Amino acid sequence: MPLTGPIPEGRTFFCPHCGALYSVTYSRLSKSDSNIAKCVVCLQIMTSWDSTKVPIYKLVQRPDDA
Ligand SMILES: [Zn+2]
Repeated sequence: MPLTGPIPEGRTFFCPHCGALYSVTYSRLSKSDSNIAKCVVCLQIMTSWDSTKVPIYKLVQRPDDA
């Protein structure tokens, strides 16, 4: 049984801390100086990168216990 419904676009990513579901798209345009992504649910750093491809995380679903 699938855990989630249809994903709008991009790849899926689960926050390793709280399990929030994100869809990830990539952009070559960096909107900020930082190269880390913070979870908007648990506010912890989910991932970082060192690349010109900047991942953009869009929250799809909050974890059940949030
Ligand atoms: Zn989280």
